[in-house]
Amino acid sequence: MDEDNICSCKKKMYGYTDGTHTVYICYKCGRYSGQAGGDALFVELIMNDPLILMHLIAEKLLKPIK
Ligand SMILES: [Zn+2]
Repeated sequence: MDEDNICSCKKKMYGYTDGTHTVYICYKCGRYSGQAGGDALFVELIMNDPLILMHLIAEKLLKPIK
């Protein structure tokens, strides 16, 4: 559980979660990583189509981690 998620470009990565899945995004370089709580399908889904991620955030299904 490290709160400081720093991207390889040294910028902060912003975390989002829906309670089960957690995703960290770097808005600087577009890199992201997911922790799917054992749900490999979720990770595969967003790896194949990162736009799904943006959609989930826009729809507030994924909420920013405070
Ligand atoms: Zn980055």
